[in-house]
Amino acid sequence: MQKNIVSSLSIARYLLALSFFLSVSTQAAVVILYHHVSDSTPKSTSISPAQFEAQMDYLEKNNFTIVPLLELTEKLRKGESLPDKTVAISFDDSYVSVYNSAFPRLKKRGWPFTFFVNTDSVGAGKVFVTWDQLREMSKHGVTIANHTTRHNHLPRREKNETVKQWRIRISAEISSAQQKIEQEIGHAPNILAYPFGEYDIEVQKIAKELGYIAFGQQSGALYDKGDLQSVPRFPFGGSFTELDDFIMKVNTRPMPTKAVTFYDDKKTKQKNLIVKAGDKPWLVLELEDTNLLKKINCFATGQGAITTEIIDNKLWVQAKQPLESGRTRYNCTAYSGEKGRFFWYTQQWLAMDKNGGWSYSD
Ligand SMILES: [Zn+2]
Repeated sequence: MQKNIVSSLSIARYLLALSFFLSVSTQAAVVILYHHVSDSTPKSTSISPAQFEAQMDYLEKNNFTIVPLLELTEKLRKGESLPDKTVAISFDDSYVSVYNSAFPRLKKRGWPFTFFVNTDSVGAGKVFVTWDQLREMSKHGVTIANHTTRHNHLPRREKNETVKQWRIRISAEISSAQQKIEQEIGHAPNILAYPFGEYDIEVQKIAKELGYIAFGQQSGALYDKGDLQSVPRFPFGGSFTELDDFIMKVNTRPMPTKAVTFYDDKKTKQKNLIVKAGDKPWLVLELEDTNLLKKINCFATGQGAITTEIIDNKLWVQAKQPLESGRTRYNCTAYSGEKGRFFWYTQQWLAMDKNGGWSYSD
């Protein structure tokens, strides 16, 4: 009798663990991002055609489903769970190498992709695509989408600009690009890629008011409970072109976060993602599964491993070194229990220098 109780309890526990495992494993779609696909463009934003092919071969051989980004954003909008091993491919910045190198390769495989174009650059020189080339891609199922008109740093105000003027200016940079795409291509979906992947809480609000699902360039898998105006994408290019790195990233799962908050110090809640150079902001993660807290490791751009503390079932994460002016990301990962697969959450900070700007080194 005793034995039976024990075994039915362990079966119940097993089923509970299995149901948790199954529920998280159904949410693991990943969006990948490229700029140039070329051997002759700046290394920091390029992947060679050979490396690109190797990455696409991996997806094909390992039975990933390649879907249009809009299919994933529709699911996100409706709060539906995302199928496992699903990838959407995207490109930013209107470069002609996307037309010359990526488009024929993806067309041959019959795979959809999304091209986020900064509309002022289209047709603006040898390195950029033309509207005719974009129309041709659109006819073959490529989604042409909004990367603003001028590719500005959206969160940054211009000298002597009021908040109101700034809001009007960046809303226009987004809306004019949308109108231009509609006019040239015939339709434009309500998705936006932030230039440089840069956003803050105010930029997110504007994107939301204008009706966009918006993408950054911070790492991570899509999460059906995540914020629709800071959707992650994994960028590849520069020092991130090796196949091993790609394999690890396309197999990631979203960190099951319940709440994400920010603090200046342990007492003062921070309202935005813009900090001052020299600050060491805290990221506080509350997770659906508190057992994960102890398994998380966090790293910051250029700093390696950083501080983590568990306080009241929340993970407090802080950079070791003061943030330098520009973009810094805290990357937090934990082993998911499934071979080769990690939960991943990235938080991006923008640190202003004393003149209110930041450098653009990466
Ligand atoms: Zn861009």
